[in-house]
Amino acid sequence: MQILDGSALSSKIKDEISIDVKALRDSTGNVPGLAVVLVGHDPASAAYVGMKKKACDAVGFYSVTHEMPKDISQEAIEKTIEMMNENPNIDGILIQLPLPEQINTNRLLELVAPHKDVDGFHPYNVGRLTTGLEGFVPCTPLGVMRLLEEYKIDVQGMNACVVGASNIVGKPMASLLLNANATVDICHIYTKDLKKRTLEADILLVGVGVINLIKEDMVKEGAIIIDIGINRAENGKLVGDVDFENVSKKASYITPVPGGVGPMTIAMLLKNTLQSAKLRKS
Ligand code: NAD
Repeated sequence: MQILDGSALSSKIKDEISIDVKALRDSTGNVPGLAVVLVGHDPASAAYVGMKKKACDAVGFYSVTHEMPKDISQEAIEKTIEMMNENPNIDGILIQLPLPEQINTNRLLELVAPHKDVDGFHPYNVGRLTTGLEGFVPCTPLGVMRLLEEYKIDVQGMNACVVGASNIVGKPMASLLLNANATVDICHIYTKDLKKRTLEADILLVGVGVINLIKEDMVKEGAIIIDIGINRAENGKLVGDVDFENVSKKASYITPVPGGVGPMTIAMLLKNTLQSAKLRKS
């Protein structure tokens, strides 16, 4: 069994990005800029935004966080997004999800200019992904593909099982695997007999949010296991959706939590923002 080390790879990618940022600054006087919209005081969201800001600082990006109260109006957020769409110092716009109930999330995601949509959530970019065209791809599944590439794992012809079918994780993950010529099975909360399907998988990718959902008897001997889940266990530790201790005994490759997919997500956010800046500023 080999660990797929997302922490090490993300450090390597961040080092490469720092070099590119310096070159961009030297040649154009500009650095990539990321704007984040953070609504309310959800501690997990605030922690994620803090990590993203720290990562931006470390590679030399300009970043700004628009913090807004929980009871903010739809119009006020829309105005902020429109402002960022116009701002030449901003290359990437990220709306930290989830948003409070009174907010129409889809409307906001559609308002972000597609060429600044570094999260890849705008229907324009979603459409490009599903048709196999270039565009911004959601950072978490993109990070998974980059991690597989690093370990020279080619999914072509493999049976891939994706558990979890959200717009930000499961669906784009499935599109990327299909584009890479895997045969893809997508499972969710209403899937009958999940175990029957996971047992078929040469590569099993799980992004659900349920501790220990995937147990040893649900995976095939030698399968590749990608654990996308991030959960807080009772003892306060971060854990994934896979029973790592027992499943790792059967896996050929497995991602740990923490240190697997999580750090890759942030690295891909930086990469998408850099790509956007290069297109506009060079
Ligand atoms: P979500 O709640 O939007 O979607 C969860 C999906 O899991 C749904 O499709 C649902 O049908 C399915 N599901 C729920 N219970 C299930 C069950 N018992 N069996 C099968 N399917 C089930 O969540 P999300 O935003 O997609 O996040 C999923 C997980 O991934 C969470 O743990 C989240 O913290 C994590 N996540 C990690 C990263 C990262 O960088 N590693 C990024 C985003 C999300």
